[in-house]
This record gives sequence, C-alpha cells and structure tokens, in this order.
Amino acid sequence: MTLLYSSPVFLEHITGAHPEHPRRLMAISDRLKTTGLAARCSQPDFIAARIDQVERIHQTHYIDHLRRYAAAGGGRIEVDTVVSEKSYDVALRAAGAACDAIARVLRGEDKTALCLVRPPGHHARPHDAMGFCLYNSIAVAARSAIDDHGLDRVLIVDWDVHHGNGTQEMFWEDGRVGFLSIHRWPFYPGTGDADEIGASNGLGCIANVPVQFGTPVAEFHARFEHALTDLSSKIKPQLVLISAGFDAHREDPIGSLELETDDFIRLTKTVMAVANQYAEGRVVSLLEGGYNPSRLAECVGVHLNELLSH
Ligand SMILES: [Zn+2]
Repeated sequence: MTLLYSSPVFLEHITGAHPEHPRRLMAISDRLKTTGLAARCSQPDFIAARIDQVERIHQTHYIDHLRRYAAAGGGRIEVDTVVSEKSYDVALRAAGAACDAIARVLRGEDKTALCLVRPPGHHARPHDAMGFCLYNSIAVAARSAIDDHGLDRVLIVDWDVHHGNGTQEMFWEDGRVGFLSIHRWPFYPGTGDADEIGASNGLGCIANVPVQFGTPVAEFHARFEHALTDLSSKIKPQLVLISAGFDAHREDPIGSLELETDDFIRLTKTVMAVANQYAEGRVVSLLEGGYNPSRLAECVGVHLNELLSH
C-alpha cells in the first residue's frame, strides 16, 4: 500500500484566475478514482501542523502576517501569490499532511506516502510567501523528521521545473538535510546554478542541476541520476522526501522541459532505488507544481503507481 493524503480542505485555498487553482486537485482525484489507484492506498486522517513545527522554518512575524492577511479577506500577498480567507488554515493542513506522512512512515505503517496538497511550498522563504507558496511544507516535514523523530539525515529531492529556492535557503547551512534540485535554467526564480552547494555545515549538502530548455530528455535523466547518486552517497539519508512538481511536462503551460508522462516513472524509480539503498525504502512525496490539469493527473497517476510498487 501507500499512504495517500488528500482532503476537500485543499480546495478552499481560492486563487481566482490563477494557474495554481483547485481544479488541479480535482483532476488528480478523478484520475486516481477511475484508474483504481486511490482504492489501493490507505487514506489516513490528519490534522494541521502545529505552529511550533512551522516556526522551525518560518519566522513568527511572517506566520502572524499571513494569519492576519487571510483573516482580513486576503489578496495578493506578493506579486505571484494569492491568499484567500481560508488559505492560512489550508496551508497549515498541507504542512500537517506532510508531518503526518513522515510520522507514519517512520513508525513503519507504510514505506511510501503521497501528499496531494495545495498550496505548494518549495518557493516559500523563512520570512515571506513566494511563487504560489505560503508555507514550505516539505521543509517543515524534514525538520519534523529531525526534531520530532530523532533522524540525523534526510534527503529532499526536488524535480519541479522551478528551482526549490525556499527549501535550499532553509537548509543552506544545516548539513542534516540534503537538497537536490533539477530544474529549468535560466528560469524562475533565478537561483539554482550548479555552483550553489551550501555553506558551513551544509557545504556540499546542496546540489543543483540546472537544465537548459531543449536539453534531450535522456541527458536530463543521466544528469539527475548522476547527481542523485553523488549526493545520496554523501548524505546516506534515513528518509527521502520528494518535492514532486510535474511542470517539467512538455505540455505544461508554465514550465516544460519536454518530459513526457512516462518520464515521471523513471524519476520515481530512481528516487525509490536510493531510498531502498539507504533509507529502508522510506519515501514521502509532496505535490508541488504542475499546471496542465489533465497531464498533471496522468503524471500523478504514474508516480503513485510506482510508489505503490515498493
Ligand atoms: Zn514549479
């Protein structure tokens, strides 16, 4: 089985005419039902992340600002990012799903989990929302693995087409959390060059694979696999987290690196092999981007099918 996290509450982050909209999750949910994939998963109950869990990652004044901004009716909290009245609570539930998933996987309830959450998280910075993201859910979960469950070494793999700048910033000097991002380059948000490798305790624990548009897909996979082998042999992770964006699909209206749906099978297999080698197969995956709802739904389907095959 795989633990599958979804909830109607994630539709309550209302963004209006915006590419990151609730229909993304509705398309995924339909697809997982009609293919029978959802029925093969267990779907745990889960609650919001605690504020002290979020405060390990985000500054208190930002958390307070977001709560007040949402309570006042919301709006554009930064140039790309919309907040609605429920968004504060929805974002806490998204981080809560990730924390619950790692707790259950570390308890041995299952080897793998997939969190189908909104809003996404990997651009969110310690003090600010950014790029459709409010709280950095994967960073909150990685810190929970360390602070609440006593792990020493966690690896985050981010294959969203955009650089996971927020996650990188959180763990730049940490050393307990490795971060690998493969992303289109040059592209939003402008960070993620290959010479960004962390500092202090985190030196060498950050790896970036910038990929130019037009790069052959075979080369994309080869570079990803090489970088993942290198970083995982250094980190020797006890748990692997995936920032699973699907906006590198060739039909994505925002991203696109010419990947086909089946390329996400190979990406998933590659990460699961690393998890099998070092982390007893433990993988928790979180939805990030993906803005063509029908392609996104297909990609999530093949990704989940692989997670189920552990
Ligand atoms: Zn993205």
